[in-house]
Amino acid sequence: MGDVKAELEKLHQQIKACVACPLHRTRTQAVPGVGSARARVMFIGEGPGRMEDLKGEPFVGQAGKFLDSLLASVGLTRQDVYITNVVKCRPVRGAPPYENRPPNAEEVSACAPWLSQQLALIAPKLIVTLGRYAMEVFLPGRKISEVHGKPFSQGDRIILPLYHPAVALYRVDQKETLIKDFQVIRKVLTEISSGARG
Ligand code: SF4
Repeated sequence: MGDVKAELEKLHQQIKACVACPLHRTRTQAVPGVGSARARVMFIGEGPGRMEDLKGEPFVGQAGKFLDSLLASVGLTRQDVYITNVVKCRPVRGAPPYENRPPNAEEVSACAPWLSQQLALIAPKLIVTLGRYAMEVFLPGRKISEVHGKPFSQGDRIILPLYHPAVALYRVDQKETLIKDFQVIRKVLTEISSGARG
């Protein structure tokens, strides 16, 4: 096996130069992802927001701090996992400085090859989708209100759909649910380690 870390860095550079969909026109920079090239867990959100577009890193600002505290609650740090989004450039509406918006189907489709390559390189055992848009990539046709916190086996990996930390910040009910659902990560990882899953 080659040097996965170097391969991932090369992939990040390719993503930063990507102009495959119109989102490249309004970005400050693409946000490929961050974390370990050998992560067992990959977190996937919907797309970079304003802060992420400026910093070049996924999940910064308030939602990022919340995600960090959720990770800590199951004994993980950003260095242990890999974090990315379904689309790597910030989806915007309006005029500069723009508002954030969710990605549309064309943008998700245009960016899908990058996510596929990240998944192929890192080969996580557990994929945690954050929010409805990331869930739809792996579990199309499902409702997040019905499946959040439930692990699904897909081939040799597990998909765990969770609510999005940014939404949970202003929805108290979702915040409590997300904190509770996060504990499923610990359970699934223990099962994977013991050979009960994966
Ligand atoms: S969102 Fe994805 S496909 Fe579109 S320009 Fe950015 S990296 Fe390329």
